Amino acid sequence: MAVYRALDFLMEHGLVHRLASLNAFVGCALASERHTAHFLICRACKSATEMDGAAVTRAVKKTLSEHGFVPETEIIEIQGLCSHCHKENA
Ligand SMILES: [Zn+2]
Ligand SMILES: [Zn+2]
Repeated sequence: MAVYRALDFLMEHGLVHRLASLNAFVGCALASERHTAHFLICRACKSATEMDGAAVTRAVKKTLSEHGFVPETEIIEIQGLCSHCHKENA
């Protein structure tokens, strides 16, 4: 129980992100202020790389507000192949 509370705390402060597709918690790579996380998830090696998606966040927020939509998730997961696995499969 205490573990979950600690995770809640970390998530609340944007220090860890929960990846729904991997059902895993990942420490924030940017450790900046609260932000929408963008993860590049490799389906081959299951690596999850957080990228700086500030420009994407701005574009998404603008589009959502045009639709009057309020997002409740703050994470964007993009699945595919990382550069390493992509090369191996080429
Ligand atoms: Zn982050
Ligand atoms: Zn990979």
